[in-house]
Amino acid sequence: MVIKGIAASPGIVIGKAFLINSQTLSITKRKIPKEELPLEIARFEEALIKTRSEIIEVKKKITNELGGEHGEIFDAHLLVLEDRALIEEVIAGLKKDRASVEYVFSRVLERYTSAFTRIDDEYLRERLSDIQDVGKRILQNLLGGEKTMLKDLKEEVIVVAYDLSPSDTASMQRDKVKAFITDIGGRTSHTAIMARSLEIPAVIGVEIGTREIKNGDTVIVDGNCGLVLVNPDRVTIQKFRKSKKELAELQRDLVKIRKLPAKTKDGYHVQLSANIEFQEELSSVISHGADGIGLYRTEYFYMNRSGLPTEDEHFEAYKKVAEKIKPQTVIIRTMDLGGDKFISQLEVPRELNPFLGWRAIRFCLARPEIFKVQLRGILRASAYGSLKLMYPMISGVEELKEANKILEKCKRELEKEKINYNRDIEVGAMIEIPSAALTSDILANEVDFFSIGTNDLIQYSLAVDRSNEKIAYLYNPAHPAVLRLIQNVINTGHNKGLWVGMCGEMAADPAMALLLLGMGLDEFSTSPLVVPQIKKLIRSVRMEDAQKMAKEALKLSSGNRIKKFVEEKLKRIAPEFITGKGR
Ligand code: PEP
Ligand code: MG
Repeated sequence: MVIKGIAASPGIVIGKAFLINSQTLSITKRKIPKEELPLEIARFEEALIKTRSEIIEVKKKITNELGGEHGEIFDAHLLVLEDRALIEEVIAGLKKDRASVEYVFSRVLERYTSAFTRIDDEYLRERLSDIQDVGKRILQNLLGGEKTMLKDLKEEVIVVAYDLSPSDTASMQRDKVKAFITDIGGRTSHTAIMARSLEIPAVIGVEIGTREIKNGDTVIVDGNCGLVLVNPDRVTIQKFRKSKKELAELQRDLVKIRKLPAKTKDGYHVQLSANIEFQEELSSVISHGADGIGLYRTEYFYMNRSGLPTEDEHFEAYKKVAEKIKPQTVIIRTMDLGGDKFISQLEVPRELNPFLGWRAIRFCLARPEIFKVQLRGILRASAYGSLKLMYPMISGVEELKEANKILEKCKRELEKEKINYNRDIEVGAMIEIPSAALTSDILANEVDFFSIGTNDLIQYSLAVDRSNEKIAYLYNPAHPAVLRLIQNVINTGHNKGLWVGMCGEMAADPAMALLLLGMGLDEFSTSPLVVPQIKKLIRSVRMEDAQKMAKEALKLSSGNRIKKFVEEKLKRIAPEFITGKGR
């Protein structure tokens, strides 16, 4: 059986499936520290919300198939979810027992069951079956959400799950998880980005993975093509083993050019940097020949830990990266939590539209005491290497001015305390909201550089959730609206004397990279694995050809046309990139 999904992280792996679902997990009493109580409550709330939408979905399906009266059963189920007594009992139990929420919830469920079975009343007995049904669903969602097994694997596996959060992925045992497959998610979801940075091959958005794959099935994950093969025959396995070998050879070939500059045939030089999430990736940045780090996503520093990082922890972490990459530059992006990245310690309330909500710089400006801890850490580390910093999710000039004001305050404090830092540290704005792209001429007066974050810019300008596989076909970086915004930012930046980079995934697509080169982009920042490929591309073309091609492409009417046009041109103007096994 072949299942098609989204190619999230490259590599071919053959192995045994390990399903993450409630059957593989057991409820044991796990004590939790006091400071993690809000996290448990948040997990409970999340499970209630998820259960609610599942029940609504089932109700819809049953009503369509069997008629309204059958669907009404589920109204009773929805009422159970709103039962304050049940919810309050769980929250009180959490505070009293200080145990994981699934344990507390399962105990509450047991108490309800034994109390109701003792009552001789037909109506109430029916209510009990509602409570048990709903309770089972809530437990499944809680257990599925915890994914404790991922931290305690005994053998090498290919993880198959409905969904994995970025922090689930971050806490995977890399020596045991050889690849993963999820039912939902898009290519630029943070789970996919995380997989690339951990170099774990992944296919996501397969929709039917957890339904069709059984525990222990042999599966092939082809993270390059976005394919999952379930229980393949011997001939297929052999074919994929051969492709895996060829892929490894190709990667070795590409890495050979790591010491050469990212220069076009006609001598035009671009900056080719890498994106990282963890310090462990530094050796990969160096071995793949990047000219520095164009995006250090610092929010992972806040995840999978109890309590917020201290100023010293920030300082030590950034100092280490700066020293290791010196004399090259590291661009540290200030914390960008929210959207699909949450942490419990900040107690950010759940929102209806988290991607449009109280997140990233909005949160930082509202909580300057938290923001300043990170800014001071970055400033202190700037004395030990070449550091720049940039703010995520800037939507207008006021935010940018406010952020800079807080930065200035931190600088003054450090001066007073006689602590060293680089007074001329460059500051940039990420351009990832259409309003920022359109007002880049105004923003340019406040910063030293722009870095275009296309992962978000595309989702916001096309109204396409970056992590939703169902609308992935609409998520098109070549859409003329996206290209016009990008061209505007590049032109404005250059007119104002700023360099303009891109740290979104668009820069990692060879055809798009060729287009961006022609549009005048100064810096490309991609995951370390992709750096050699983009370098090879840049070294295979002439700037003059890229510029001509970009001009023509921007005249076309649709994203699909532009994509096809650029791919065709790539074949023609950089034949050695294709024929020379460049991709
Ligand atoms: C982006 O939005 O393009 C980006 C680089 O930031 P992130 O993927 O972390 O949102
Ligand atoms: Mg972003």
